[in-house]
Amino acid sequence: VTVFSGRDVAVFGLGGSGLVSAQALKTGGARVSCWDDVEASREKARAAGLDIVDLKRADWNGFAALVLAPGVPLTHPQPHWTVVEAKKAGIEIIGDIELFCRQRRKTASKSPFVAITGTNGKSTTTALVAHLYRSFGFQVEVGGNIGTPVLALPPPQDNRVHVVECSSFQIDLSPSIDPLVGVLLNVTPDHLDRHGDMGNYAAIKARLARGADHSVIGVDDDITRGIADEIAKEGRQTTLVSVTRPQIENGVVLEGTRLVRRVHGRSTPIADLAGIHSLRGAHNGQNAAAAVAALGPLGEDLESVEKGLRSFPGLVHRLEEIGQCGKVLFINDSKATNADAAEKALLSFDKVFWILGGRAKQGGIEPLRSLFPKVAKGYLIGEASEAFATTIGGAFPFEFCGDLETAIPKAARDAQDSALEQSVVLLSPACASFDQFPDFEKRGDRFREIVAALLAAEMKV
Ligand code: ADP
Repeated sequence: VTVFSGRDVAVFGLGGSGLVSAQALKTGGARVSCWDDVEASREKARAAGLDIVDLKRADWNGFAALVLAPGVPLTHPQPHWTVVEAKKAGIEIIGDIELFCRQRRKTASKSPFVAITGTNGKSTTTALVAHLYRSFGFQVEVGGNIGTPVLALPPPQDNRVHVVECSSFQIDLSPSIDPLVGVLLNVTPDHLDRHGDMGNYAAIKARLARGADHSVIGVDDDITRGIADEIAKEGRQTTLVSVTRPQIENGVVLEGTRLVRRVHGRSTPIADLAGIHSLRGAHNGQNAAAAVAALGPLGEDLESVEKGLRSFPGLVHRLEEIGQCGKVLFINDSKATNADAAEKALLSFDKVFWILGGRAKQGGIEPLRSLFPKVAKGYLIGEASEAFATTIGGAFPFEFCGDLETAIPKAARDAQDSALEQSVVLLSPACASFDQFPDFEKRGDRFREIVAALLAAEMKV
């Protein structure tokens, strides 16, 4: 990154993308002063040849910018001390995606850069957009919030598509974000602890769509619909996406299980999502519609996209099919750490043998009450068991299982013995994992391991 060549830059937060930013800035000729409150992170940066400078004692007037890691609070609950210092000195506060955007403008401003945000579905849509572009033969780099920091990817180039997942934190630190295609999926209350209020949170998400040459906006919630209206009034190019309002004049919509392109109120079929296991559920209909719409601006032939959709492997831990034995299908949805996500899972199947629990979020599973008829039986694990049992009451039968080791064989046996033609053992905990696992990935991995053992033993449960 040469955009700060010859200038002094402060970098705070060296855990993940911050370290990569510092290295990229240094390689590009900036003088970089790094700091992190965690000694181990400072050590790692030092070992990478970076200058560790105690920013608490630094002269902030000498810096051209503060580059922050996305987790560092800008305003809520209160501004981090580096933010206070930067504001006092009147210097800009930016993140790695902003650096990426500036470098792209400088070196390859026409390169295909697709940025994706939304409260839910970001990772799935990012992975799907990347997969579809690859299926059309493009060279694709994927990064941002989904994994690899953008500055660790090969740089922008005209024949190379960058598909970047952006969290609201990252957009907050990217004042000039200007993708070729900007996808905004949905906006529902989330992360208000950091962004203060809904208006602010929505404005941050809107920035990505507004900065894009061409935006793709999901219009199934009031907030994104408002944003789409504003952007249309400003005369910007936008493609609307909807699952709940297939009658919109122009855009990409889901009619039943079919993805359809709407032009002046007329429908042209694009693809049928029926039977595409990696894109189960209406929520994935939104993700698929948005991903397909994101191909349009690069001139791709949407009618030939179905093959690409069919070969999408999906993401692990999100309604992930682990295996099947006889009529029993095992699904790992460990990423469902709240009721909202578990709702999407329950909506995706007819009857489930549901493994749930862990460390409960506020409200527990109360919001799922209307979906309780979909549950054949519940298997409670973790700290939330007692509270969830109270919420369930007599709505469906359940057992206290304690952990996955106990819950899975019980659920498998019941699913096998049931009179249902097809049955589903679903791990969709509606809870954080921290009472029993370091993270949801470890929880999902454990589920996969136990199921694999059951399948290997042909489910002699
Ligand atoms: P993110 O990266 O935004 O967290 P993911 O693609 O990882 O989103 O999906 C996480 C969970 O969010 C999924 O397991 C599902 O429960 C839910 N989800 C996915 N896509 C959507 C969507 N378009 N609308 C609402 N919820 C969704």
